[in-house]
Amino acid sequence: MSASLSSTVLETSRPLGERVRLARARCGLTRAELGARVGVSARTVAAYETGDVPWGAGPVLADALDVPEQYLARPSVPHVDPDRLCFRAGHRVTRRQRGIAASCAATAIEIDRWIDARFDGPDLDLPSYSGEGPELAALLLRDHWQLGAAPLPNLVQLAEARGVRVFSLPTSAEAARAFSLWTDEIPLVFVSRRQTPEETRFDLAHELGHLVLHDACVDGHAMLEREADRFAREFLVPRDAVEYEFDPRPSVDSVVSTAARLGVAPELLASVAFEAGRMGERDYLDLRRGLTARGRGGDGRVTRHETSWTFAHVLSGRQGFGTDAAAIAADLAVPVADVHALTFGVELRAVRNGEPVVGCAPYRRAPLALVPNTVR
Ligand SMILES: [Zn+2]
Repeated sequence: MSASLSSTVLETSRPLGERVRLARARCGLTRAELGARVGVSARTVAAYETGDVPWGAGPVLADALDVPEQYLARPSVPHVDPDRLCFRAGHRVTRRQRGIAASCAATAIEIDRWIDARFDGPDLDLPSYSGEGPELAALLLRDHWQLGAAPLPNLVQLAEARGVRVFSLPTSAEAARAFSLWTDEIPLVFVSRRQTPEETRFDLAHELGHLVLHDACVDGHAMLEREADRFAREFLVPRDAVEYEFDPRPSVDSVVSTAARLGVAPELLASVAFEAGRMGERDYLDLRRGLTARGRGGDGRVTRHETSWTFAHVLSGRQGFGTDAAAIAADLAVPVADVHALTFGVELRAVRNGEPVVGCAPYRRAPLALVPNTVR
């Protein structure tokens, strides 16, 4: 970098300290590292972040932080405290990774508000089952959403149709694996797609469990994590489904195909069936050996990650208002790559495939009815 804050007089809009902090977190930089990039001390960066940013520092800071200059001057910063997020990856998430995840969440909140101001999405329909057992909560939510014991073909779109915002995590934040938060009484869930499609579905169900069961999240709290896992198992593989669909002495092939229909890992289905008393221990162990021999990448498993219908719809440009990731990025002054990364890359996929949108029909039980309420 040729320019530095200590040697350059600049004349543009004044960056906001909070934005500097957020942009620094997005890059996973310490104050000292940012300071080294712009030629000031860590103490000076700390002063910037508490509001004492020099006039005209925008270009150098924006360059060092790899954001458009306007980003640093935009007011109204969504506040996401990394220490109040509960990451699916638990204690393995480093301080730096926590900051990156929180900065992604802040951008996602801005994207959500942007969409919300222009489209009428579904109202939130997510009861609280705080105080209930996880299995009962899963059954109650299935019942409330009128799902019966049927397989859930697309969990992302199911959640979206009930007013839950689901975002994909950028590669830089995938170490967090998954997390959820409430903002303005709207729940947002973030999932990584570094895992297998089955694991990502499980992670989303796990986060739904946190949202309905837990009023407050205590990061790494083993009991809360176990409860969210138990909720996810029951929600994805209800006991009734095992009762009716599980052959007591199943072949490996039949377990793999039933699991694929339910959108879960065959190992999970086998374990639920065993715990539900649908098979004996010897058959269960044989089955586990068969699944291990077949390998986690074996034929017949779920191979495609689910994607969002909301973003496919909003970013398709089909509304005729020129709505696309570039428009959102320009309004929010964020890199367009950040918008793509948080929105399942639906626009990129559409371009790659040469079609407007691929595989993104509304969830069949409750189609989203996004209606633009302003014309850009
Ligand atoms: Zn959790």
